[in-house]
Amino acid sequence: MARYTEAVCRLCRRERMKLFLKGDRCFKEKCAIERRAYPPGQHGQRRGRRTMGYGLQLREKQKVKRIYGIQERQFRTYFKKADRKKGITGETLLIMLECRLDNVVYSLGFGASRAQARQLVRHGHILVDGKTVTVPSYQVRADRVISVRDRSRKNEYVRQSVESARGRGVPDWLDLDAEAFSGKVRALPTRDDIKIPIQEQLIVELYSR
Ligand code: SF4
Repeated sequence: MARYTEAVCRLCRRERMKLFLKGDRCFKEKCAIERRAYPPGQHGQRRGRRTMGYGLQLREKQKVKRIYGIQERQFRTYFKKADRKKGITGETLLIMLECRLDNVVYSLGFGASRAQARQLVRHGHILVDGKTVTVPSYQVRADRVISVRDRSRKNEYVRQSVESARGRGVPDWLDLDAEAFSGKVRALPTRDDIKIPIQEQLIVELYSR
């Protein structure tokens, strides 16, 4: 799968907001948004016209893709699935993204960023109900228990992440037992549980053109 390998802070600057792609650094003064909150590149500081219509919809979609680290094709597949389900398409889309295993691992604090959480899943450090799952897009369900494999609990990255995530807090729909490196899905999230500022309706409008 194609992967974005450039400096990820550029992505935040392009969206003019923190997307929290770099773990601890995102919470420090060194964060690029704290220092240069304008788009990257030669014309980044130019005063441009207000983004409207298609441009606004496109930026919203890019923002969500970047937050969850999803490529266009997979994102479109998520959208199609959400569109086929009952309920409000935009909300269903966000809930599906939120329930990805890599996002849950990040939300529980086992990874410092979603990218690191994804790597932990891929490398077999994460168990779901006691069984190794190596698919980052795996959809968690209510009552699933997500834990760090025994021998991975000594992993320095995992320990540091859990430590620094303590201050970050865990979403209401998850229960964390930090000492046991384990967390449980209390119930599937609702739209209100997703605190990232996203206007999902714009994405629905974009794909409905
Ligand atoms: Fe974005 Fe984090 Fe870089 Fe700040 S430090 S610009 S939040 S990736």
